[in-house]
Amino acid sequence: MSTHLTAGQRAWLRTELEQRHQQLKRRLDDHRGGRSRIEYARETRTQDDDDAPQREGEREVDLALSDFETQEFTEVGEALARMDRQDYGLCVDCGSDIAFDRLRAEPWASRCVGCATAREKEAARRR
Ligand SMILES: [Zn+2]
Repeated sequence: MSTHLTAGQRAWLRTELEQRHQQLKRRLDDHRGGRSRIEYARETRTQDDDDAPQREGEREVDLALSDFETQEFTEVGEALARMDRQDYGLCVDCGSDIAFDRLRAEPWASRCVGCATAREKEAARRR
């Protein structure tokens, strides 16, 4: 278990994560109108057939936003799970403490700055 965070910091981060989780869940539910992602995608595609071409761009943005929020929702959920397992605040790659300043900006961060940067570089190279 990580010991570099005080009980107060952990409590604050947990509240942040729980609020974000609720918020994203509501947004995603609204966005999909309660439908599953696959149904949503299928319906969007069906609508595309008889719709004006200039509206397709908007819908792509819509779907991309949903993807982004789904991803973030997953990350926030995983951070809450790590908190329950007591390994929250530790880098999943190298196991070092993630600085509170970083967690304060991004409470669902799962990697230290070094590993996150290395990963981004790696991803950029593969692109
Ligand atoms: Zn690391």
